[in-house]
Amino acid sequence: MSLIKKQHSIGFFLLLAGFSQVSVAEDYLIENKKEYKKIAESLTAGDTVILKNGNWKDFEIVFSGKGNKQNPITLKAETPGKVFITGQSYLKLSGQYLNVSGLIFKDGYTPDSSVITFKHGDKEANRSRVTEVVIDNFNNPDKQESDYWVALYGKHNRLDHSHFVGKRNKGVTVAVRLTDEKSQQNHHQIDHNYFGYRPVFGSNGGETLRIGTSHYSLTDSFTKVEHNYFDKTNGEVEIISVKSGKNEIKNNVFNEARGTLTLRHGNGNLVEGNVFFGNGQDHTGGIRVINKDQIVRNNYLENLTGYRFGSGLTIMNGVKNSPINRYHQVENALIENNTFVNVQHIQLAAGSDAERTAVPKNTRIKNNLIVNETKQPFTIFDDISGITFTNNITNQPVISELRSGVENQNISLSRHKNGLLYPTSHSENVGVQRDLIVLSKDDTGVKWYPKNPATTEFDSGTKQSVEPGPQALDDAIEAANSGDIIELSPGQYNVSRLLKIDKVLTIAAKTRGKSALTFSRSALFEIHDGGSLKLEGLAITGANSPDAAANSVVRTKKWGMLENCRFIMQDSLVSNLNINHSFDFFVSGKGALADELVLQNNRFNNITGDILRLDREIEDLGIYNAEYVIIKNNQFNDVEGAIAKIYRGGTDESTFGPHLVFSDNTVSNTGKGKRNKTSASLYLHGVQVTTVSNNQFSRSAPLVVEHTVGEPQTTIKDNTFNATPAPEIKELQAEGPHTATLQNNQIKQGKEQRL
Ligand code: CA
Repeated sequence: MSLIKKQHSIGFFLLLAGFSQVSVAEDYLIENKKEYKKIAESLTAGDTVILKNGNWKDFEIVFSGKGNKQNPITLKAETPGKVFITGQSYLKLSGQYLNVSGLIFKDGYTPDSSVITFKHGDKEANRSRVTEVVIDNFNNPDKQESDYWVALYGKHNRLDHSHFVGKRNKGVTVAVRLTDEKSQQNHHQIDHNYFGYRPVFGSNGGETLRIGTSHYSLTDSFTKVEHNYFDKTNGEVEIISVKSGKNEIKNNVFNEARGTLTLRHGNGNLVEGNVFFGNGQDHTGGIRVINKDQIVRNNYLENLTGYRFGSGLTIMNGVKNSPINRYHQVENALIENNTFVNVQHIQLAAGSDAERTAVPKNTRIKNNLIVNETKQPFTIFDDISGITFTNNITNQPVISELRSGVENQNISLSRHKNGLLYPTSHSENVGVQRDLIVLSKDDTGVKWYPKNPATTEFDSGTKQSVEPGPQALDDAIEAANSGDIIELSPGQYNVSRLLKIDKVLTIAAKTRGKSALTFSRSALFEIHDGGSLKLEGLAITGANSPDAAANSVVRTKKWGMLENCRFIMQDSLVSNLNINHSFDFFVSGKGALADELVLQNNRFNNITGDILRLDREIEDLGIYNAEYVIIKNNQFNDVEGAIAKIYRGGTDESTFGPHLVFSDNTVSNTGKGKRNKTSASLYLHGVQVTTVSNNQFSRSAPLVVEHTVGEPQTTIKDNTFNATPAPEIKELQAEGPHTATLQNNQIKQGKEQRL
């Protein structure tokens, strides 16, 4: 039998540590936090700590000790996936040769600055490994409170086969920290992890992986990021932000992920063998190159729509004598043997402006294959004589600056077994290698935790019918599951309580227009975390609403929404929201972000407030309330406020939205109420992408557009403005004339005018 090295009274069992007679390790089966504490400070090489299956609440785990290569110290779940760390919990490692596996962090958040930290106090962990760990929606309830899920310090650590999904509060999901020399030249390995859905965060601070910070960016990290799967990691423009030198980013897959792999700071990084599938989703990007000695080789990029700093490939201009946190000149970059298929934008010398004047130099772009169905993808923003093009092939016309080394050919493609497209005719040494292995999602993360779809779709559940009656709708909502449809039989529904929506629900009239709703609280629906709402065919009035100001039909929780929501209304009539002033239709709470707000085929009559109030983020921190606002084919009559007030303040450029589509609507006598301080029928501040087309405005306040940072894209075309002033467009940041496109609009105001 094995020896017992030290006395302890708590429950444990022993396993033979092999049959070694030299050193006998112990296995502790730990049942509670107290027991853990007792043994935690005396762990020695070869020990194994097993956490009993179950729920461990408010567990601040400090795991430290000195293992060695042959005899690491292990902390693991009794059964992988059966140990839940919940509440206010974290894990800190310090020492060496520590292994952690099998834990799930959920239903809680860290009270500290990260969930898993390879450091405790000022003692790092080295040569340690965290594997097969899940962190699922382990978010601080205050979305703007920043934390990491994993912070790597020390050297030679490995984070692998883990599953990260649903980071919703501010802060990088996984951060490699280079804060002092004990953590520099660290040679960490981050591999085979599944990075699941990360929703649009709605301001800076939504990166999935960051290696270094600008402050230490001239330091080498030597971190390897290999065989990871990035699945809709949509937090912000940077999916991966490399801010140090000598890292290798290889053989990862980016699936429908908004943003790019950005070589933001640091030199001599290698980006090789990665696969980007955008599937035509908005803002899907590829690789952005800044700094010296970067190699981008043998990567495959398909169906990416991103533009500007989010393009399929962006090579930036730098700043002369750049401060460490600005843009260093691109120098000695090698971009070779990459395949770009239906990548809409490749941008060279991007970001050229009065500050960014240092053009790329001594850079080679060779043996790349560029195939597009529709158009040639290159945009050139400055002098590119410092880039040499050799043996690149495209099926599109070649712009003159590229003719020295980009050749137009007829190219047909076929899809190979590895899922990638290759030319059918032989094209020696151009594009990605034929033996590139594409990582499968199944080979990442853990086997015992499902990789669920990002969101529950509307109408994906079952249908239940509801007859009018006291609390009929309340009860149906209570009983429904996410994805269900509640179908209202014709009749009058007088709702006396605020209806809380914390699941994905459709509420639809069985016969369009025949289900009438009134409500007697200050709002009819309040959307909470997990809630999304679709309304169809309803007739909603404010007839029974309290005689007080500032009622609304739908609002999100007034403060503290952590999860993004969706709201859709179609084929409905909303009328007489006029019992008192400032009666709005939809009001966002502070801090809330809607992924999508859609109004289609509705009529709105007699409303004293706004239709969509998305203007709660007044601190100008780059935060906003809706990513996509789509308003199509509605009628707005006698609305005293604005149809939409969308406010995105600040100068940060880390987000893509907000986006607005406003088309085929009829707007009359709208925006002219004396309490409408914007004096606008549509008020857009800092909206990034706007299309206003084919609408009829009459006797209404003007459309007011205020451009701030980024390169806002505003198109206003084919509209009629009858007895309505022309759109007012202001540039608040940029000098010179506004950049909006106005086409074929008619202004009729006494005399007719076109612009
Ligand atoms: Ca960022």
